[in-house]
Amino acid sequence: MTKKPRLLFATTNAGKLRELRGLVGDAVEVVSLADLPPLPDVVEDEGTLEGNALKKAREYAQATGLPALADDSGLFVDALGGRPGVHSARYAPGDDRARYEKLLTELSGVPDEKRTASFRCALALVKPGGESKVEVGRCEGRIGHAPSGTHGFGYDPVFIVSDKGRTMAELAAEEKAAVSHRGAAFRMMKTHLLGL
Ligand code: IMP
Repeated sequence: MTKKPRLLFATTNAGKLRELRGLVGDAVEVVSLADLPPLPDVVEDEGTLEGNALKKAREYAQATGLPALADDSGLFVDALGGRPGVHSARYAPGDDRARYEKLLTELSGVPDEKRTASFRCALALVKPGGESKVEVGRCEGRIGHAPSGTHGFGYDPVFIVSDKGRTMAELAAEEKAAVSHRGAAFRMMKTHLLGL
């Protein structure tokens, strides 16, 4: 029997790990940063989601000798010229709620038709030899006027998914995976992962 390929997913987020394992099934053994001895953090300073994901995947592939997968994601709001974008995690100090409340404040008075936004996720795969592949998944929607829903994280309570007419935080995990930017990027990457 041939040995299963091993893949490092450069995350400590249990939800993302579960989603990836569900996608590749038994074909690939997926390990996360939590399964390895501590590795130095990678500074995400590339200025784009694609650049950051690729930098992370490249550094972790070099450090471990394993094929490495890394993601970077963010919320791009059209009325704000694409902000917070690559800086979504650092848009405001404090917690997720402080960040989505800042967003609602910045958008106060902006009418529904101008509140369009997209969640985007860049996923990069780098093999130990240096060969790389990047995919970007998107989820289209608009920013509501008040938070709603209790699932998910980040900006989910204020992001109304176009295809659903509900906020991302009103969707159960499997429903979110089927429409989300991250789910889309995972599915685009699937054939490359199964070919490891
Ligand atoms: P990360 O790339 O998963 O670390 O995400 C960066 C930031 O983008 C997060 O801290 C959130 O603010 C935002 N974000 C990314 N994906 C999502 C999502 O699925 N829902 C809500 N917020 C998200």
